[in-house]
Amino acid sequence: MRHRIAVVGGGPGGLTFARVLHRHGCPVTVLERDPTPDARPPGGSLDLQEGLGQLALDKAGLLAEFQALSRPEGQAMRILDTAGTVLRDWRPHPDERANPEIDRRQLRDLLLDSLDVQWGREVSQVVPGTGEGVLVRYADGRQETFDLVVGADGAWSRVRPAVSPVTPHYTGVTAVETSLDDIDTRHPDLAQLVGDGSVAVYGANRSVVAQRNSGGHVKVYTKFRAPLDWHADLDLTDVEATRAGLLALFDGWAAPVLDLLGHGTAFVHRPIHVLPVSHTWTHVRGVTLLGDAAHLMPPLGAGANLAMLDGAELAESIAADPDDLDEAVRAFEEQMWSRAERWATITTAGLERLVSPDPAEALALFEEVQR
Ligand SMILES: Cc1cc2nc3c(=O)[nH]c(=O)nc-3n(C[C@H](O)[C@H](O)[C@H](O)COP(=O)(O)OP(=O)(O)OC[C@H]3O[C@@H](n4cnc5c(N)ncnc54)[C@H](O)[C@@H]3O)c2cc1C
Repeated sequence: MRHRIAVVGGGPGGLTFARVLHRHGCPVTVLERDPTPDARPPGGSLDLQEGLGQLALDKAGLLAEFQALSRPEGQAMRILDTAGTVLRDWRPHPDERANPEIDRRQLRDLLLDSLDVQWGREVSQVVPGTGEGVLVRYADGRQETFDLVVGADGAWSRVRPAVSPVTPHYTGVTAVETSLDDIDTRHPDLAQLVGDGSVAVYGANRSVVAQRNSGGHVKVYTKFRAPLDWHADLDLTDVEATRAGLLALFDGWAAPVLDLLGHGTAFVHRPIHVLPVSHTWTHVRGVTLLGDAAHLMPPLGAGANLAMLDGAELAESIAADPDDLDEAVRAFEEQMWSRAERWATITTAGLERLVSPDPAEALALFEEVQR
């Protein structure tokens, strides 16, 4: 039986869902707000874990391509204290494949391949329970009906209100991100500091992490505890004012660490919001959520992995039981909720320890994860 299935959002979760469904011969419509694939900078490198994101890519038939593109050496991690002393310098074994890194753009292109995405399709509202099926309203005033609408539209999902009244709340931790291009040529000393993977520096209630992406591009993430309006006196669109504000926040830290901020090109403000750890909803026929739309959690290396596995499992559940779409969705939701709760608990505790009054907590967490 041919169902009319739409997925809202062409991020890692939505694309994996579409790709696996497509692989099973089921047609699916991908509705993406961005007007083109390159309309926005893609964001930093992702590490994809063996039992999560890599498993999803296996289900999508893309594991070999991923292995060819990914950077196992990107798993390297160096930890410094705020004076610049190296506390840990961990390098992966050359065969280590537990968590290799891949650029988001490469991952997206891998998943996109032959998928037919409708770009520039911004969904404004989803209304279940109409006689014709689930109504999707677009921002341009048009509308369309489907048998199943999957919300893979991220943190501020427009599909979520159709199943749940819950919205994300602020964690009390803010991130400001910047980046450096062509680091090996322009800033060889900083390139050495970052190494093949990441360098992380933890102080009281704040941290700086710099991570190598491909092509000599480095993303620098600062995190700190602050009220949501911490920038009330700062114009975040003014690059130099933002840089000065950040340098003041990290005043007294070792010069090379501050240089990562000093040479950053532009700054992106990302206050960290999350959904409740146990976010579930009463099942609604014809609508479901996956990825950040369902279980937004602190960005500690799990979100894209979970979104992709959600997408792959929902697609497999539908393909395995095509005559009972509703039952396939229900079974998926139960599985997703219990996995998401486990990871939300881990990442929530992780954020508390990584941005903690006692920087020794971050080091202890690193060692626990290594073990
Ligand atoms: C700094 C940072 C680093 C991270 N690092 C990692 C990591 O190493 N590993 C990891 O697993 N996770 C990581 N994450 C988390 C990860 O980025 C997210 O969890 C993941 O992208 C969620 O995927 P998704 O498909 O659910 O949603 P998204 O990636 O948010 O994709 C949602 C898509 O929906 C589209 N959309 C939104 N609204 C609409 C609408 N109304 N209509 C149509 N389309 C819409 C958006 O344009 C977007 O393309 C990181 C996050 C951050 C912020």
